[in-house]
Amino acid sequence: MKIILIGPPGAGKGTQAEKLATHWKTPRITTGDLFRQAVQNKTPMGLQVQGFLEKGALVPDDVVLGLMQERMSGPDCKSGFILDGFPRTVGQAIGLETWLKKTEMVLDAVVVIDVPEEEAVRRITGRRQCGACGSTYHLQFQPPRQDGICDKCKSLLVQRKDDEEKTVRHRLKVYAGETLPLIDFYKQRHLLRQVDGVQKPAEVFQTICSLIK
Ligand SMILES: [Zn+2]
Repeated sequence: MKIILIGPPGAGKGTQAEKLATHWKTPRITTGDLFRQAVQNKTPMGLQVQGFLEKGALVPDDVVLGLMQERMSGPDCKSGFILDGFPRTVGQAIGLETWLKKTEMVLDAVVVIDVPEEEAVRRITGRRQCGACGSTYHLQFQPPRQDGICDKCKSLLVQRKDDEEKTVRHRLKVYAGETLPLIDFYKQRHLLRQVDGVQKPAEVFQTICSLIK
């Protein structure tokens, strides 16, 4: 199975990507992991990536594509892959399409996990993390036994800056701006499958499986 997963922050995309990767025994590929590995291994492309990340700049499409192509050429990707967070832009999608054609690979589906903005905000702003041991909680779904205190080490729970409402709304706006054109792109190619991400994770997983068989 060759799948692209798309979803806003808070849609549970990472969870589904993990489940699908385990289910089909295919690698889950994220740009974040690829960047980290390339930087760690000090490959020529890794050094370029490091330069952009250090400047706080976006890694340009051709570099992202280069890394992706290298990864998707790996022997473990012969039976398929799950792309999580890539492509992010139509430019990247066109690059990916060109490369897939050249290597005679065919995408099976592009799955979009939809979650309304207010639900995404509720999910993300409820996250809390222990400042000491890093354990994670959720005010609504997985609250600590004692308000604001870590069950494991009794330290104070904090909200990550990324999870504050203002930041979340900004991330959602950026997502919408980048992704709507991408969704149209794959709709025109009849690859798009839309899934309601408000269901329980197990139900989302079942729905995805039923849509791409
Ligand atoms: Zn703790």
